[in-house]
Amino acid sequence: MTAQRNFSRPDVELLTINRQTSVRDALSLLDRSGAGMLLLVSPDGALERTVTDGDLRRLLLKGASLEGNLQDLPNQAPRVIGEGESRRAALDLMNQHGIHHLPVVGAQGKVVAILERKEIDAQILLSTPHMGDSERQYVEEAFKTNWIAPLGPNVDAFERELAEMVGARHAAALSSGTAALHLGLRLLGVGAGDKVFCSTLTFAASANPIVYQGAEPVFIDSDRDSWNMSPQALEQAFETARREGWMPKAVIIVCLYGQSADMDPLMALCRHYNVPVLEDAAESLGATYKGKASGTFGRLGAYSFNGNKIITTSGGGMLVSDDADLIAKARFLATQARDPAPHYQHSEIGFNYRMSNILAGVGRGQLQVLRSRVEARRQVFQAYREALSDLDFITWMPEPTWSYSTHWLTACTIAPHAGADRHSLMQHLAGELIEARPLWKPMHLQPVFQSCRYFAHGDASVSDQLFDQGICLPSGSNMSTVDVERIVDVIRRFRRRAS
Ligand SMILES: *Cc1c(COP(=O)(O)O)cnc(C)c1O
Repeated sequence: MTAQRNFSRPDVELLTINRQTSVRDALSLLDRSGAGMLLLVSPDGALERTVTDGDLRRLLLKGASLEGNLQDLPNQAPRVIGEGESRRAALDLMNQHGIHHLPVVGAQGKVVAILERKEIDAQILLSTPHMGDSERQYVEEAFKTNWIAPLGPNVDAFERELAEMVGARHAAALSSGTAALHLGLRLLGVGAGDKVFCSTLTFAASANPIVYQGAEPVFIDSDRDSWNMSPQALEQAFETARREGWMPKAVIIVCLYGQSADMDPLMALCRHYNVPVLEDAAESLGATYKGKASGTFGRLGAYSFNGNKIITTSGGGMLVSDDADLIAKARFLATQARDPAPHYQHSEIGFNYRMSNILAGVGRGQLQVLRSRVEARRQVFQAYREALSDLDFITWMPEPTWSYSTHWLTACTIAPHAGADRHSLMQHLAGELIEARPLWKPMHLQPVFQSCRYFAHGDASVSDQLFDQGICLPSGSNMSTVDVERIVDVIRRFRRRAS
C-alpha cells in the first residue's frame, strides 16, 4: 500500500461568517480559503446560507460598500446535505447544481463538515492494473525492432521467465487464460461426449472451455477450509462415476482469489482414478501450496494476465507443464496448427491463441514486480483484518497452514444480522463509491449450466452458502492506506446502522 496522503480539508470554523462581517473581510476570507464558499450563520450557530464570490459581487454592484456588512444579502436556502448521507447522494447534488463544495449539516442546522468534490468523487475499484518500471522498456524494444507480432523475443523470454519463477519446465504464452484452459482440455484429449469435473465456485471461464470441446461439465463443491474444491465432494463424484460405469476425461481444479486448493488429497484421488488434472491458477499466480507454486501440480496449469489479475498484460494467459511435448503441441495449436510445409497445410483444427510480442513485453515487466504485488495484496488483507477484527459478523477467507495465499482479492462472508447482509453491505459500499462484488456465483446455479450434475461437500452445499454471504472487497496492490481506512470506516458505519 502507498503511504498516507494528506488532504487539506476546508475548515468549517475558518469559513464561518455572520451578518456583521464586512464585505471586505468576506472577500479576503474567500480569497485565502480557496473553498469557493463561506458559511453565513445566524446567532444560534445554524447555517443561514452559503456565500460565494458572485454573491458578494452582486452586493457591491447594488451599491454596498467594501466596509459595509452583509445585512442586505438576500435570504437563500442553502444547498446542504445531511449527516450520514452517502457520497453518491452528495455527488448527485453537486452535479445537479454544478457546485464543488457542499456543507454537511448536523443537529440544529449546524455545519459539521464541508465536502469537496475532488476529495469525494474518487471511486475505489476492486482491482486495477498496477504497472512497474520496466514494462515500457520491453515494449519500446519491440517497437524498435519491429517485432509487432504474435511471436518474438519478448514472448520467448516471458515464457522462460515465468516457467522459471513458478518452477515449471515449459510454458506457452497465449492470448488469454481462457485460451490456456481451452488448449489444456484439447491437449488432454477432451472431446465430444466426454465429462469433465470442475470446481463449481469459480468464474465461468473455468467451465466454458469444457463446452467449447463439446464435453459436459460436472461440478464439484468447495470445502470450508480453503473455499476451493472439496476432496470429499470429489471423492463422492469419482465413486458415483465408477458405480455408474464412466470416468471424467479430466479434472479442472480452480485456485480461487489467490489461494491454492488442497492439492495433496485432490491429486491423490485423481491419481487413484488415473484422471489428469488441469489446474486453473488464473487467480493464484504467486501463491504456493506447501511451498510449491500454485498452477504446477496438474499435468497442465493455466494462468491469466487479464486486467484485473495480480499482474496483467491487459489480456493474456500462460499454459505451463513439465511435459515438453504438450507445450510444443500447445504452441502448434495456438498458431493455426500449420503443418511443417511451405504451403499452408493443416491436418488438425487450430486456433489463433498466441500472445503478441508487445504484450509479452508488458508481462516481462510485470513479472519483475510480482513479488511486491503479492506482498502489497497480502498487506491489504491484513489491514482489513486487523482494523475490523472486533466485528464478529465478518469471517475472512481462511488461509490454511499449507497455503501461502496472494489474497488477490480480500474475500469474506457477512453473517446475516438484524436485516444487514452482504446485499445491504454492497449497496452501502456502492453509495460510498466503493466497488465490492459478491463471490463468484457457483456454476451449478448458473442458468446456462442448470442441466449439469453437481456434487456437494456434504448434506449442505458449501458454495451455495459462500455465494449467499460472500463479498470481495477492493484489494488492488496500488491502494493507499487512506483507501483502506475509508472502506473500514464505511463498514463500521454500516455496522452501527444495522445494530
Ligand atoms: C480470469 C479467470 C479466467 C480467465 O482468464 P482470462 O485471461 O480472462 O481469459 C479463468 N478462470 C478464472 C478462475 C479466472 O479468474
